[in-house]
Amino acid sequence: MTEGAPSPPSPSATQEELLAQVGPLVHLDVLENLLNHARARSLWPLTFGLACCAIEMMAAGASRFDMDRFGSGVFRPSARQADVMILAGTISRKMGPVVKALWDQMPSPKWAIAMGGCTIDGGPFKYPGQYAIIEGADKIIPVDIYIPGCPPRPEALIAGLLMLEQKIKAGKKFNG
Ligand code: SF4
Repeated sequence: MTEGAPSPPSPSATQEELLAQVGPLVHLDVLENLLNHARARSLWPLTFGLACCAIEMMAAGASRFDMDRFGSGVFRPSARQADVMILAGTISRKMGPVVKALWDQMPSPKWAIAMGGCTIDGGPFKYPGQYAIIEGADKIIPVDIYIPGCPPRPEALIAGLLMLEQKIKAGKKFNG
């Protein structure tokens, strides 16, 4: 190997690590910007709720708050058709592998929003010696936006979606 050449990825690298190491051969900025704008204004969330925060997520999608105004109202029943996962509610240890499996089924590029104290760090169920919940969604998947509250109101979720749109338009990060 010549000096200064990039080292090959380790065989034990995860899919995320491999994608971070392997950049595109050709980078078309104008096309990429156009795609990022289209992606940002047509987010398709996975139809998926974990606990009480999901009620607020449903309210955000209903007529009073109408997430569809921002292009984010097409909730998909299949992970294979969704590009944003809104983690709304407590993540029990039993549900952890299910959340990870759904995330892995979503095509790239994809994004994750942690909605509420439970998905940020365990929220009200975090205490010494607890054994039932996962203390934060970022323990199992990469999270792009955190929305605090117990529960956050629908307006907060919409604000989080708008922040995610800004992040996507700026081309900041694609998970997986
Ligand atoms: S953050 Fe509060 S409202 Fe949301 S799932 Fe946890 S306990 Fe329920």
